[in-house]
Parts: sequence; C-alpha cells; structure tokens
Amino acid sequence: ESTQVANFLAYTVEPYTEIAASQGKQLELAPVEDFTATMDQNLIHQLMNILIDNAMKYSPQGSTITVSAKLTGRKWQLVVTDQGIGIKANERQRIFDRFYRVDSSRSRQTGGNGLGLSIANWIVSLHHGNIAVKANSPQGSQFVTTLPLNASTGLNRHDKSKD
Ligand code: ATP
Repeated sequence: ESTQVANFLAYTVEPYTEIAASQGKQLELAPVEDFTATMDQNLIHQLMNILIDNAMKYSPQGSTITVSAKLTGRKWQLVVTDQGIGIKANERQRIFDRFYRVDSSRSRQTGGNGLGLSIANWIVSLHHGNIAVKANSPQGSQFVTTLPLNASTGLNRHDKSKD
C-alpha cells in the first residue's frame, strides 16, 4: 500500500509509549518529514514491533528509545535507537540468524526464542531493503532499516474481493 510514513509511524509507535512509560522508559518518535512510501503495512508494522520490543527488552529503566525516519534519495530509512546493553561487534551479524541469541543464559531471563530479528530480516528482504545494526554512542544499539520508496513485495497480488 501507498503509505504516508509520518502518520503510519505515529500510529504504530503510539501504543508502545504507554508500555514504555509503565517500565520507566521513554519512547520517542522524532519528527518525520512528509513523504509517501509503498510497503506491506502489516509486515512493516510487524518489523517495528520486533525492533521496538527488543529495544525495550534490552534497555534499563530511565533510558530512552527513539524511532525516526528519513528520506535518502529514492529510499527511506527507519531507525530505532536504544541506550541499552548494546551488541558486541562480533555478534552483530549473527543476531539476524534464526534462533541465535547473544549470551543465552543471560538473555533467557528476558524470554524470547531468537526468532524476532530473523523475521525482521525476512520482512526487509521481501521489500528489497536491508537491515543493519551498529553501536549507538555512548551506549546501546541502532538498527537501521533501508527500504526502497517503491517497494513491491510480490505478496497480495491477487484480488482480495475474490477470496
Ligand atoms: P524474540 O524472538 O522474542 O525476539 P530474542 O530477542 O532473543 O527473542 P531476536 O529478536 O532475534 O531474538 O534477537 C536476537 C538476539 O539479539 C537477542 O537475544 C539479543 O541478544 C540481541 N538483541 C536484539 N536486539 C537487541 C537490542 N536492541 N539490544 C541488545 N541486544 C539485542
């Protein structure tokens, strides 16, 4: 669907602001320019759920999680930044693998099965985009998803009215 990104992000992030507050964390949506992108909204919603869930799960009380988006030529970027425990450089590739969890004994306390980011990676691939993580300064992680403005996933090509 053709999607007004600023509205879509406001709508997606909103329910999480209360959850974050109840955990003593702050979730912020940075101001987003007015632009439109084609995407599968259900899947991109799911992608955001995964990234925001993780950001909250691996962040301490009192920290801030920021969601932002920007245009970069014929693509756009969705950025989720946290001030949490961070991810060591040598783990940054593997966290996108199925079932991979950093330090499984420690992260077992927070639940999860290591599938979230592999699903995120699949959603991004379907949109012909890419997802990467880097260190946030002075601490935490930043997940940068780059998507074409005109992404076609190849899903939903049939006429839904015939279902
Ligand atoms: P779930 O399947 O419920 O999402 P999970 O969080 O273990 O469980 P992934 O989302 O795939 O699985 O994440 C894989 C691993 O990457 C996590 O176990 C965690 O070690 C690390 N990780 C993911 N996001 C973050 C983050 N924002 N900060 C620090 N570590 C993270």
